[in-house]
Amino acid sequence: MRTHKLGEADRIVTILTKRTGKIRGVAKGVRRTTSRFGARLEPFTHVDLQMHTGRTLDVITQAETIRPYGEALVVDYPRYTAGSAMLETADRLIAGEKEPALRQFLLLVGGLRALAAGEHEARLVLDAYFLRSLAVAGYAPALDACARCQGTAVRAFAIVAGGVVCGNCRPAGAAVPEGETLGLMLALLKGDWATADASLARHRAECSGLVAAYLQWHLEHGIRSLRHVEREPAT
Ligand SMILES: [Zn+2]
Repeated sequence: MRTHKLGEADRIVTILTKRTGKIRGVAKGVRRTTSRFGARLEPFTHVDLQMHTGRTLDVITQAETIRPYGEALVVDYPRYTAGSAMLETADRLIAGEKEPALRQFLLLVGGLRALAAGEHEARLVLDAYFLRSLAVAGYAPALDACARCQGTAVRAFAIVAGGVVCGNCRPAGAAVPEGETLGLMLALLKGDWATADASLARHRAECSGLVAAYLQWHLEHGIRSLRHVEREPAT
């Protein structure tokens, strides 16, 4: 998910693993230009790793590439920025190290695979990833019934209430999105790509704004990479 420099030639690599959740390991010598090992430990790379337990940090001893998703992402700015926002969000949503996070792992790999394949608009893939990773973390927004009273006559979307709200429960400052926008959010959360791919640009833009605000509210701080994600102009 992330790397940073250590000393003259090493890196500390933050990795989301299938079995052990988030871990950090030292990769020795990877900043030398001749290191092929280093390229396999770049962000967006799905790797098969071997590590051994060190005194303070675990040491990565071997890395074999399974899928280098970064190759497809670095040549396409919207896909690259969406992928960067995914990695940052996964890193932030998974707070503890060495706590199994299999569903977050599968969502992240699935999201990167979908971005690299380019079958759907990057922003839709990103918003689907945000909604599902929030749901796995326990923050799924209410989308088909009022978040407060379960009433079905929903009128607005209120982040503080946890999703859509009815006219009676609506707090001050709640957004009033179009019905199609809420339908798009629900489709992305459920993985209904036929509906999502057929959506209009203005509903996608409205959906992205709501999802980003909802995510950021739950993470308490801004997701830095989101600032670089290009938004389609509303039409
Ligand atoms: Zn209500």
